[in-house]
Order: sequence, then structure tokens, then C-alpha cells
Amino acid sequence: MIPVKALAVTGFGETGLVALFTPALGPMEALVRVRAVALCTLEQRVFRGVVKVPLPFVGGHEVAGEVIALGEEAHISGFKPGDRVAVRLLYNCGACPACRRGQSNLCDHARHKPVREGLLPGPGGLMDQVIVPANMLFGMSDRLGFDEASLTEPLACCVHSVNRAQISLGEDVVVIGGGVMGQFHVMLARLRGARVLLSEPMETRRRLACGHGADRAVDPAGGDPVAAIREWSGGQGAGVVFNTTPEAGAFAQAVLMAGKGGRVIQYSSLHPDVPTAISPQHVHTNEVTITGSVSPVVEDFATANRLLNHGLIGCRHLISDVFPFEEGQKAFEAAIKPGAMRVIITSG
Ligand SMILES: [Zn+2]
Ligand SMILES: [Zn+2]
Repeated sequence: MIPVKALAVTGFGETGLVALFTPALGPMEALVRVRAVALCTLEQRVFRGVVKVPLPFVGGHEVAGEVIALGEEAHISGFKPGDRVAVRLLYNCGACPACRRGQSNLCDHARHKPVREGLLPGPGGLMDQVIVPANMLFGMSDRLGFDEASLTEPLACCVHSVNRAQISLGEDVVVIGGGVMGQFHVMLARLRGARVLLSEPMETRRRLACGHGADRAVDPAGGDPVAAIREWSGGQGAGVVFNTTPEAGAFAQAVLMAGKGGRVIQYSSLHPDVPTAISPQHVHTNEVTITGSVSPVVEDFATANRLLNHGLIGCRHLISDVFPFEEGQKAFEAAIKPGAMRVIITSG
């Protein structure tokens, strides 16, 4: 048994440190000292009581750390104690029909990660040490800080989304919402050779995007956003529109922003879901494709790892605050403030 400390959501707006034990390492597992965890919207929603789960809940699936020990057979992964790694923590079963089709991001059991003896429900990254399968470790370049490497998972989510859009060189791409995910979409679309427009009400976020890949940023409250896209695209409409906001109204607008042969990607989840009217006629006459994007597959994680390691995508500007593990409560409070980008909890 290995003693571990967890930072758990213990109640509405409340966190606490909990001492737990985790069983010894399996042959293909690694023990990782957690050095940085980014607080994603999942943890924030549980903390705010928007997503109801059994408490206490140990969130944290955006993790980077240092390998402490490897199980008997895990050396075949190529890792050794002391290696700095980004960790893929989200669970997929490998056995359900979606997993067997290679769509592990759509796993039937993604939310039912088996809980190890003595541990609490949740993705479980907010601990001082975690045990993970060795094939879920991704080596970090020396140039990258643990805080930056903890953003590998959210970047992987956006890689998945951008890959679904099949952006062509020179296409016009609209990103709705300039939070962390919106900003990653802007950078990735730019890297794919697109001209990119961000639609976002907060001026600070518009400025951030313009410094990191956006050709133009507009305030959707400053006029008709659909007309703004028409004008920007020379009357053609966008090739691709990503809605990274949990707003059903923005989704309906995204459909109208798409031009002939355009693709609309609903990236954000909605809590609660709000059914909304879209224009079937616009979809028909323009052959608009509407789809969603949820979670990454392992290949997306590997891509995100390479993009960060080789400096093709930077993410330092997306980190708004860093707190030590002991100040977890403050970190959660900072993460839910309007306008916050990623808040990171560091340890060790
Ligand atoms: Zn996440
Ligand atoms: Zn599965």
C-alpha cells in the first residue's frame, strides 16, 4: 500500500485534503509524483454544484509530473524514474463497441473509471502521487514547464476537434468563444493554414487571441455576429465554425455563419442542454455539415504532446494563476472567476 494525499471537492464550494492509500504497482503501471494539475471545467462544475456527482470527488485529469517508480514490466515503455511526463488520465475501457472501433473518446464507460481500493471517485489527478498505466505517459521536452505540460490534455481535446473540421489551406475559420479552448482552436486553425476570426465579448481575450494567431477578433454584442462573418468572408460565409461556448444561441448562429460546404463543430458541452432552432434551409442549400467533438483519442494526445514539446503551440499565455497544492481552495475559487484562463495547482 502506498500512502497518498488527495485534494477533493468535499461539498458545494468546498475542498479538503484527504489521506488515502493506493495498492502497490501492477507490472505495467507507473507511479508518478504529480507536479502540476490544471483545473478543467469538469472540476469547476463539480465545485460549483452544476454537475452532481457523489462527494468527496477527486478531480484533475490535466496532469504533468515525474516518474517515481515503474512496475516489473513497465520498463518496456522506455521510461525510467526521474523522467518528466505529461499524463493521460481520462479513462476508456478498451472493450465497448466504440473503443473497438477506435473511437475511444466515445467510450461507453468513460465516466466509470474503476476506483482503486481506498480511493475516491473521479479522474483522480489532484493527488500528490498517481498510479497510471505506463502507456499513458508522454515524455516532456526540457524546454517545457510542468504547468505548461499539464495543458497537454486540453490541447489534445482541441486537436481532436480541429482534425474533425478538415481545414484546407487558406480557408476562413470562425472560433466562437475565447476561453482556453477557444484560444487553442485559434492557434491550431492558424497552424493548419487558415485565416481565423474570433468572436468573443471580453476585450482581454480578444487581444490575447490577436497576439496568438487570430487575424481578427469581434465582439458578438457589438452588432449582428452572422453579418460580421459574412462581411469578413467577402459574402462567402466561413469554411469552418467552432462553437466553444456552452450557448445554444451561439450554435444556431454558427450554422448561419457557415458558407457553402461549410462545417460546424459543436465543441462545448451544455449544462443544462438547451434545444435550439437552426435553419434547415441554410443547411440544405449550402450543404453544411454539423457535427460535435468530445474528448481526445490517444493519437490526439500524442499530437498535442509533440506540438508543445517542439514549441509549435505555446500555452504560457493561457495560464492565469498558479497555486500550491495546500492552497487548493484558493485555486478553485480563482478558477471559477469570470475571465479566468487555466488555473494550475503545483506540488513538490
Ligand atoms: Zn480537461
Ligand atoms: Zn470503451
